[in-house]
Amino acid sequence: MKEIKCIHCDRKLDYIMTEDIQLGKQSFIFGDWPNLLAGALTVSVFRCPECGKLEFFSADYTDEKLPQVTCPNCGKEHDFDYPKCPHCNYAK
Ligand SMILES: [Zn+2]
Ligand SMILES: [Zn+2]
Repeated sequence: MKEIKCIHCDRKLDYIMTEDIQLGKQSFIFGDWPNLLAGALTVSVFRCPECGKLEFFSADYTDEKLPQVTCPNCGKEHDFDYPKCPHCNYAK
């Protein structure tokens, strides 16, 4: 299991949410990130519990780094930010 750490404090970041950003639909959080708005994008948001810094990762990037959770229904592992288990479709 890999952890995402704050670049300032070296603290493990808390996962906040995953947000879908779509072309022409600006988020108030990402309004000043025009380079991210070139198309539909799924972004995971993390926050440092030490300094409060927010870190954003595209799902493309975090796919290989996300911690894994074990599905309580089928017992298989999947990325922790999936709303449903990709194996059995079990919703948390
Ligand atoms: Zn920090
Ligand atoms: Zn499952």
